[in-house]
Amino acid sequence: MPADYHSHTPLCRHATGEPEAYVDAALLAGVSEYGIADHAPLLPEPFDDWRMLERELPEYCRWIERARTHAGGRLAIRAGLECDWLPGCEAWIEQLSARHGWDYLIGSVHYLRDEASGAWDFDNPKWLGRWAAQDVTALWTTYWNAYAAMAESGLFDILGHPDLVKKFGFVPAGDLARFYEPAVDAVAASGCVIELNTAGWHKPCGECYPAPRFLELACSAGIPLVLSSDAHAPGEIGRDFVQAVRVARAAGYKETVLFEKRQRRTEPLPENGPV
Ligand code: ZN
Ligand code: FE
Ligand code: FE
Ligand code: ZN
Repeated sequence: MPADYHSHTPLCRHATGEPEAYVDAALLAGVSEYGIADHAPLLPEPFDDWRMLERELPEYCRWIERARTHAGGRLAIRAGLECDWLPGCEAWIEQLSARHGWDYLIGSVHYLRDEASGAWDFDNPKWLGRWAAQDVTALWTTYWNAYAAMAESGLFDILGHPDLVKKFGFVPAGDLARFYEPAVDAVAASGCVIELNTAGWHKPCGECYPAPRFLELACSAGIPLVLSSDAHAPGEIGRDFVQAVRVARAAGYKETVLFEKRQRRTEPLPENGPV
């Protein structure tokens, strides 16, 4: 199976499991590499209640070291962060990137600007009521503009869950290509890799991130791909990767990307397995 580069640790306060259990699960799932990319610190602290604090970064690196020790020569362990794209975050991301010899940084849009209240973490279930009262098309426009700006920043190796904005099933009517195309253009121009994140299959939207249509456009535009589970528990490492390989192949992909110290290699996608 391809590498799984998007996974979390208990330091983010909403994931469970010891590093040894994640490594054992990764070995069982047969992923080619196991990458850890927990929710990165954000200032001013506490920014919210679902990420590590800045002073916990050394503990995070020790957690990754424990995984590496347990894996021994059996599995490559990669060190990353899932960073939040927010207006004006550039200097902070650059600081974070210099704090450790990361293998890659993932950029994610979890926060959207709001005129009245500043930024809100739209994918947090606590905002379900707020979603019901929103102009979905306007929100999608805001989201995809932020996603394109994140790509253009050039700060990240991998761009996380491309259409996370659909998480709760709030999707505008009509052909969604009008949102996808400008984002795909921006990502292609940036040279960033995107992820096919299988967690969406377990959310109200019931679909992987991104949607197959987005993935087809991305493949046609030459955007490289990684697969990811966004695991928040050991049993979720490599979850749904057989299905993800099928979706990636159907979109035209034949390989995925591997990262080491922010350098890329590729590995071929496996052939489709039995359904
Ligand atoms: Zn999380
Ligand atoms: Fe995320
Ligand atoms: Fe995540
Ligand atoms: Zn994520």
